[in-house]
Amino acid sequence: MAISTKDLQRLFVLIADDIAANRDHLCELDGVIGDGDHGLAMDAGCEAAAKAVGALDPAQTAPTAAFNAAAKAFLNAVGASSGPLYATAFMRAGAAVKDKSDLSDDDFRRAFAAMAQGIQERGKAEPGEKTMVDTWRPAADAALAPASGTSLSEALDMAERAARQGSEATRNMTAAKGRASRLGERVIGHIDPGAASAAIIIASIAKFARE
Ligand code: ADP
Ligand code: MG
Ligand code: MG
Repeated sequence: MAISTKDLQRLFVLIADDIAANRDHLCELDGVIGDGDHGLAMDAGCEAAAKAVGALDPAQTAPTAAFNAAAKAFLNAVGASSGPLYATAFMRAGAAVKDKSDLSDDDFRRAFAAMAQGIQERGKAEPGEKTMVDTWRPAADAALAPASGTSLSEALDMAERAARQGSEATRNMTAAKGRASRLGERVIGHIDPGAASAAIIIASIAKFARE
């Protein structure tokens, strides 16, 4: 599968649609252990990213520039902590595939893993601290695990499963980063909203790879 900027336009719409469908659910999760805006923030960011990427001329725009446009739009649309985290993720995805016009399955896997790395470095969170890193880290590791040349859909199906498990695992954690860290033991029993939205985005990306 060779992935072009035209395909990335489709990917960002897919992500925006899936996040929009889960907007209220994500706000509810954030209402329990945060300030209740996570669904609104992710919906605004993903919608803005899809619009910005959709407005590009795919014949004139390399994937790196498309990821950069998504990053800028996401950052401008979101005032919450998820803004700079996903903006960094998209910038890193773009940097990972610099100078390519069509992405191979391995290229796309590297871009995917770079997103996780960017989020982790920007937020300085480690796995186990009840954040979106608990979804992104295992998903990136799962995506990179199969040998080079493995089909993208196969690798991302594994990433999707790891993301779901990682997101679920935040239920039993206390938070070391973000707003929820102020609530101590009271957050135990509740999934982290950023971990949940990450699992949705990763499922959208896996769906994209299957299509
Ligand atoms: P805010 O807390 O500013 O309202 P959001 O509601 O959009 O931001 O996002 C909250 C989510 O951001 C959390 O559920 C968590 O997953 C994630 N998060 C917060 N701080 C960090 C961090 N330092 N590193 C990684 N993820 C973080
Ligand atoms: Mg919030
Ligand atoms: Mg907020």
